[in-house]
Amino acid sequence: MNTFSRSFSDRLLSDYNYTFNKNGVCGERLANRLALLSGIGLTSDSGTNRMGFSKEERCAKDQVIEWMEEAGLTVQEDGAGNVIGTLYGDDQQHVIMAGSHVDSVPNGGHFDGPLGVLCALEIVEAWKETGYKPQKTYEVVIFSDEEGSRFKSGLTGSTAMTGNADEVKLRSVKDVNGQAFGDVLQNVGLNADGFFRAKRDLNRVEVFYEVHIEQGKRLEQNNLPVGIVTGIAGPCWLEISFKGKAGHAGNTPMNDRQDPLVAAGDFTRQIPKLPREVSESAVATVGQLHVYPNGINVIPGEVVMTVDIRDIKKESRDFLVSKVKKLAENISEQHGVKLSFQEKVRIPPVPIKNSVLMTVEKAVKLEHIHPFYLPSGAGHDAMMMGRQVPVGMIFVRSKDGISHHPDEWSSLNDCVQAVHVLKKSVEATMERGV
Ligand SMILES: [Zn+2]
Repeated sequence: MNTFSRSFSDRLLSDYNYTFNKNGVCGERLANRLALLSGIGLTSDSGTNRMGFSKEERCAKDQVIEWMEEAGLTVQEDGAGNVIGTLYGDDQQHVIMAGSHVDSVPNGGHFDGPLGVLCALEIVEAWKETGYKPQKTYEVVIFSDEEGSRFKSGLTGSTAMTGNADEVKLRSVKDVNGQAFGDVLQNVGLNADGFFRAKRDLNRVEVFYEVHIEQGKRLEQNNLPVGIVTGIAGPCWLEISFKGKAGHAGNTPMNDRQDPLVAAGDFTRQIPKLPREVSESAVATVGQLHVYPNGINVIPGEVVMTVDIRDIKKESRDFLVSKVKKLAENISEQHGVKLSFQEKVRIPPVPIKNSVLMTVEKAVKLEHIHPFYLPSGAGHDAMMMGRQVPVGMIFVRSKDGISHHPDEWSSLNDCVQAVHVLKKSVEATMERGV
């Protein structure tokens, strides 16, 4: 273990409450493993660089494979580099999956992804220790390239496994360094043909569970270690253009202007009040604004802006999209500017089945934790898996809500409580189904 990993592990264990070591679950093992993975791709800022399909991601996968094999799992890898560690039960017709990813954004943190994989694996360790023999088959999964820093589109591994990969697009895509998709795969011992054969029959999968850091502050604000995810929001990205009349800033009187930037400002100011008109979980964000010609003494001729619109239910998300469009139409009329839209992305949100929510809620209560429900605003592998199979997600409190940054932190107490909740949820699904 390198110096960083050692201090990382010490920090995790410094305030660990050892009473959470129970039912075969071991906080020191989890801390040790998180620390060992944190040393792979370590940056000078004490963050991690494990881009999808990099040698660092490969190295992290290989480390987890070693632990999977030691724990008695049969390890396979599909054509997309997704790693599947299987513990066969007597009943192989019912499969329960749990996992996440080990890649990161550039200079990211040490919990986003690895925590979900290691929590899923810790359950197998706990069963081994207590002699629990699961009836159904259990799989621990590492999905490739979840973050998508390489090709600017995430969930690559889960997209391949669920058969949702866009072959035409991927075969022509280049990564951030200008390398072709097939060449990037080849660097880590994979190939494009194998990637597109990774689609798997998921009929036997009863549920996929994912533990993930919250990446927000709601659990912290409510002083809770874990939360139950109610649904995964699907984004709709609108590109909106307001076109007016460019002119000289000095020579055009104020009453003779069609200024698209003033319209864009008015539009942006009114966006925040719309989400609460459709639901409590809906959000809308103006994230990009391009002003043309962007001159200091020129009244702008055009403004092109984006709105990111999300909710966990398709109906309310789509309702919000129509409200945003209506607002843009009203604004364009009021300011006398021309309006055009382009829908860049519309991904369906993934609702979480009530029976899965109840299973996780029961597990949370068994750990004497107040059940707290919250939506996931970000996409995860569970979002892609959710297109094919029921999914459940457990969020773990993030310190200060920070993620995708070296300062990302979750206490070992919270992480281990998530293992217990996941373990009880998986065991309940083993015994009663979902
Ligand atoms: Zn993640």
